[in-house]
Amino acid sequence: MDSDEFRRYGHQIVEWIARYYETVEQYPVKSGVPPGAVKASLPEIPPSGSESFDLFLKDFDEIIMPGITHWQSPNFFAYFPANSSPPSVLAEMLTAALGAQCMIWETSPAAAELEERMMEWLRLMTGLPEQFEGVIHDSASSATLAALITARERVTGYSSNREGMSSSGRLRVYASTQAHSSVEKGAGVAGFGRENLVRIPVRSDYSMDPDALRKVIDRDIREGYIPCCVVAAMGTTGSTAIDPLRAVGEICREKSIWLHVDAALGGTALLLPEMRWMADGMEYVDSFVFNPHKWMFTNFDCSAYFVRDAAALIRTFEILPEYLKTRTRGAVNDYRDWGIPLGRRFRALKLWAVIRTYGVEKLQSMIREHIRLAKMLSGLIEAAENFRIMAPIPLNTVCFRYEPAGMDPERADRLNEKLNHALNDSGRIYLTHTTLDGRYVLRMVTAQTVVTEKHVTEAWELIKEMASALSAQDGAIDIH
Ligand SMILES: *Cc1c(COP(=O)(O)O)cnc(C)c1O
Repeated sequence: MDSDEFRRYGHQIVEWIARYYETVEQYPVKSGVPPGAVKASLPEIPPSGSESFDLFLKDFDEIIMPGITHWQSPNFFAYFPANSSPPSVLAEMLTAALGAQCMIWETSPAAAELEERMMEWLRLMTGLPEQFEGVIHDSASSATLAALITARERVTGYSSNREGMSSSGRLRVYASTQAHSSVEKGAGVAGFGRENLVRIPVRSDYSMDPDALRKVIDRDIREGYIPCCVVAAMGTTGSTAIDPLRAVGEICREKSIWLHVDAALGGTALLLPEMRWMADGMEYVDSFVFNPHKWMFTNFDCSAYFVRDAAALIRTFEILPEYLKTRTRGAVNDYRDWGIPLGRRFRALKLWAVIRTYGVEKLQSMIREHIRLAKMLSGLIEAAENFRIMAPIPLNTVCFRYEPAGMDPERADRLNEKLNHALNDSGRIYLTHTTLDGRYVLRMVTAQTVVTEKHVTEAWELIKEMASALSAQDGAIDIH
């Protein structure tokens, strides 16, 4: 592709993106393609000669787009959002154009230093402690794994990387029954063994019960285990429950246990002074992760990982082959020593573009509005007959279910599952479910970049309509 063609197609693609954002509501939110359909439309062998880029664009429209679920639609209420935004997209184009490999400072000083400054900005924006230093990871899963490995190194006197874990004793990790699956995966990968992740019961609001945590840790110590790390959630994935950091942190401090906070979604709410109560007890926290790629309008991937003691992190991950020795070592941040992969994308650029283009006040007002929308929706649900709110709503996620009076709970489970599928198959909105106390619960997350009150109220009308239609059917024919 020569420079003229690049320019022409480049303009065409930016035009395509602008139109996509203008018309994104017209697409079915969740892709309805059957399994295998996209693959079957793709040639079995690669082209041996060159093809026109026009053909690529045509196939993108005809083959790829129908198989896309539209995460940037304001009618996307599923999972947690993976929000993008125009400034993020534009900066990501520049990152791709530079194609810089940002493994160490020397391989692009501007990338390393912008990343350092952006992590300081995020620390100030969220009110995290001054000692915290940060690095951008690809995902919260990677950051939590890095935290677990660092905790493991610290508790073994930095011997487990060198010698393996056969002489490390039986190390334990603790997280609530509502913790994200990445904690379990990390405990396995980091060599603790999944069976040494101990699940702590939750209180009625689905937050970790610190009394239960203390009992379990005391029992483990009596039985010869070595408590190594507690992972607390600031916003669980199921219902955005907030674990009590102060009570958990006091236990960790007393027993010298690493405290990692998984705030993948919820951390963004710390931009709001009125939400800082979630961070009460932060002085006990060793590491903290949140994802600007969820709720801070910075397209995937961009996960902000903060540590109190950067030296412990670096000591865990640094490795120095001859070909990476530089004259600047020690004077600058070489971020390959701050996590697992050597190679690193230039992710700070899009974060810089987002923070500058919106400004902190606008970011705050958008997040505040999302929280208001969740409260408003919960008000509508509470006022409706036959619907029930299933968990507290501290952030942007409403857990609820349809439960006509007198219907037995198993039957209501099946009815809500059917309702969820019917809503998603309609293409008009997309929401997902969880289970709480064994019951099937619908989750609606009001946090998409361009979601407004109108989208939420229209979604709610649709849910009510489809629920009563389904339950009328359910009266006639028994569902399985
Ligand atoms: C989304 C989420 C994760 C996983 O985030 P990734 O960046 O996709 O790894 C971890 N923990 C919680 C609480 C989450 O909500």
